[in-house]
Amino acid sequence: MSDIKQSNVDVLVIGAGPAGVIAADWLARFTKYGVKTRVIDKRSHKVFTGQADGLNPRSLEMFQSFNLMGKIGSEANPMNEVSFWAPNENHGGIERSRRIPDTIPGISRYVQSVLHQGRIERHIIDDMLEKSNGTMKIERGVLPESLEINDDLIDEDDAYPVKVGVRQLSEEESRPKLASKHGEVESGLYKSNLIKDEEDDVEFNPNVPVGDKEIINAKYVIGADGAHSWVRRQLGFKMVGEGTDFVWGVVDGVPITNFPDIRCRAAIHSNAGSLMVIPREGKIVRLYIQLNLTVDEGGHVDRSLITPKMLMEQAKAVFHPYTIDIPEIIWYTGYQIGQRLTTEYAKNNRVFIAGDACHTHSPKAGQGMNASMADTYNLCWKIGHVLSGHAPRSILDTYESERRPFAEHLIMNDAQLAKLFSGKPLSSAELNELGIDMKEFETVLEKGISFFLGTSIEYFNSAATANGKDGRLASKQELATKVPVGQRFPSFQVVSQFDGRHFHLVDTMFAEGQFTIVLFAGNMENPVHRQRLETIAQRLDSDDGVVSKHTPNNRERDSIIDIKTVHCGNRVNVEVHDFPQPTVYPPGTYNKLYVDDVSYHAGHGEAYKNYGISEEAGAVVVVRPDHFVGLVTSLDGAGFDDVETYFSNLLKTVPAGERNSAKDIKVIPQP
Ligand code: FAD
Repeated sequence: MSDIKQSNVDVLVIGAGPAGVIAADWLARFTKYGVKTRVIDKRSHKVFTGQADGLNPRSLEMFQSFNLMGKIGSEANPMNEVSFWAPNENHGGIERSRRIPDTIPGISRYVQSVLHQGRIERHIIDDMLEKSNGTMKIERGVLPESLEINDDLIDEDDAYPVKVGVRQLSEEESRPKLASKHGEVESGLYKSNLIKDEEDDVEFNPNVPVGDKEIINAKYVIGADGAHSWVRRQLGFKMVGEGTDFVWGVVDGVPITNFPDIRCRAAIHSNAGSLMVIPREGKIVRLYIQLNLTVDEGGHVDRSLITPKMLMEQAKAVFHPYTIDIPEIIWYTGYQIGQRLTTEYAKNNRVFIAGDACHTHSPKAGQGMNASMADTYNLCWKIGHVLSGHAPRSILDTYESERRPFAEHLIMNDAQLAKLFSGKPLSSAELNELGIDMKEFETVLEKGISFFLGTSIEYFNSAATANGKDGRLASKQELATKVPVGQRFPSFQVVSQFDGRHFHLVDTMFAEGQFTIVLFAGNMENPVHRQRLETIAQRLDSDDGVVSKHTPNNRERDSIIDIKTVHCGNRVNVEVHDFPQPTVYPPGTYNKLYVDDVSYHAGHGEAYKNYGISEEAGAVVVVRPDHFVGLVTSLDGAGFDDVETYFSNLLKTVPAGERNSAKDIKVIPQP
């Protein structure tokens, strides 16, 4: 035991799927504060084909917060329209019943899109490399074998209470043993939930020498190791929920068909079963096919039954009277629908689980990857701030309190949708209890769409959300009626006061870990409004103000709490010198002052109107590092008391004498 290598790390991420790589990319942004992260995965290769591909607008907004939409957006296929198909009672085949936009218009600047999971992971890993200055990598073929938490150390900030024993695997061992081909076709059955926990375990080959072993002492561990999560099993957390009988197949390829909606998302309900068409990047189309297979509750379907031939036979029956053929199937798999949720998300706020390790559900609403990435997007800025010394460990409580209610809601919606999808369509001839009404089906799908788009997720049960519930600080929601506290901050166009360029407001606050206080300051042509901003600025410049109180003197002044001002005067009648220096307008910076005015090339963003903010009263909006709204309050003394209370509840107070001070910034005299 004594010659086993030992090492210390701040965060150990186990699993490099969507949840793991988002965790890694967030934590890479904290390497600048000395945070060290390692990411291990037992598999030697990443996803090359198949698997998840549905990206909801919220995930795309999340990518953009990491400045990744240039790359991901150029490869993804936007899904513009969803059409519904129902049985035609005359010819027994299907007919189109309705078409609607796939994404509710106006809900986000992005529409639901699809891109292969492997490409998404590639872009995120590249970003992780860049943000960590090349210090982070994914260590593949590394298997965790033991996990212990030292209870005596869990309350010590600088301790490494979690001990994880790992072993380097051989190439052969780290290849999924069930990875297989059916003829020339890649099969994803080894990744699907049709396998049992033990089948997902690594199979040791006695002929391969035992690899290097290492004990990793970690401050925090994140189990992002998928539906069969080893970390979850070590912690003793159980997955609870319903087992159901519905089994689906998935096929990727380029179809030859006379079905007119092959490039739309098409939800087909036929007398032969249900099917969903997903138009993907390039010419590829994915078919999710309901199979006529039944499984006893808790059992697993016989995987050998699922072959490309049987999937296509079923698809052809559903498409009748249209014809479809996929001469070259690129990838296929099977999926058994079961909605389950873990009993707990965290142990001692030292070991967390995320993604499929916490929640599993049908692939139908395309939520698995979205929900998994959103878990670690929520968790890792919090861990980053704790490790950087900016936030107390209590902030970590908000991970489970925010993400569990979301997962409960997701599973409830998914169960409803899966039942409707898998139920038999109602025709006048067959009215039985298995049947469902097409109208109900479409209504549930439409209501579900708004939840599944991800933009209406609300963190209502959290100290990081000032919504007045359970004795928490209350927001003045009436001052920004379309900026719901606890939901993601919507984005509208504003114009730079400096050069007239137009920006989405959220694009002026890329996610680097900072909170942003947005001062909707009213009309800067109005002397009363200018004086109001001046009074706030004096408070912000003070060494007891919210920025100095929570920013140590070895950090940039805007690195933890950034201030942006959006006024609504006429841009050309206002000068940048009219804004108070140095915290509101730090001399030498050009990314703090904006106006809600017409742009030269992209019209008027009408930000005040779209945010529901009055030009007279204005508002203060605190945006969290993950772009959720923490607080809405007023532009006066009482409002700033709220702002200070919000941050005191969430961040550590830097002792006087060690604070970043506005006095150190040289003010430029006005002409
Ligand atoms: P995973 O993607 O499962 O990643 C877990 C990682 O951990 C893997 O890399 C694995 O090798 C590693 N690992 C596992 N055990 C260990 C261990 N003991 N030690 C070290 N590493 C370990 N979702 C959508 O959003 N949209 C869709 O359209 C969609 N379609 C799908 C279609 C199919 C056919 C399938 C199978 C899934 C689909 N999903 C979809 C679901 C989606 O793939 C998952 O929800 C998502 O990948 C979960 O991400 P994750 O990071 O939590 O886990």
